[in-house]
Amino acid sequence: MAIIVKNMLDAKGRDVVTVSPDRTLLDVAGILNDKKIGAVVITGMEGRIAGIFTERDLVRAIAGKGPAVLDQPVKSAMTTAVQRCKEETTVDELMGMMSSGRFRHVPVEQDGKLSGIVSIGDVVKSRIREIEFEAEQIKAYIAG
Ligand code: AMP
Repeated sequence: MAIIVKNMLDAKGRDVVTVSPDRTLLDVAGILNDKKIGAVVITGMEGRIAGIFTERDLVRAIAGKGPAVLDQPVKSAMTTAVQRCKEETTVDELMGMMSSGRFRHVPVEQDGKLSGIVSIGDVVKSRIREIEFEAEQIKAYIAG
């Protein structure tokens, strides 16, 4: 049976760090650092997803505009065309999304609401667990 995003969220939890579009880049850098995460989801009215902002966007903004950009609101540097997945999305589909879109974070949306976020690290963990499980089954089969 294919592993799906729901299985990953059941294992890691459904908390998502969200920030409002008007927080400054400096505030958001502090949040990424404090929470030891690589991305925040920017939420607008009624908690709807307005964008995503990752450490990659922070590097791009500082390198392109200089340190004064840290006083700008995060909405000026976030990605607004956010690709999302559902709890039923398979890990294979998720890997396809991440590699073709070249990003490492995907918010999970269920019934129009944010229900989690998965990162490339979660995908790697899930794949390793799956491979270990398969190896155990093969060993058990060989041992009879
Ligand atoms: P990342 O590899 O996740 O740090 O993101 C690389 C770039 O893709 C950054 O500009 C992000 O804002 C953007 N990005 C990250 N996740 C997504 C996503 N799910 N949909 C669209 N863009 C994204």
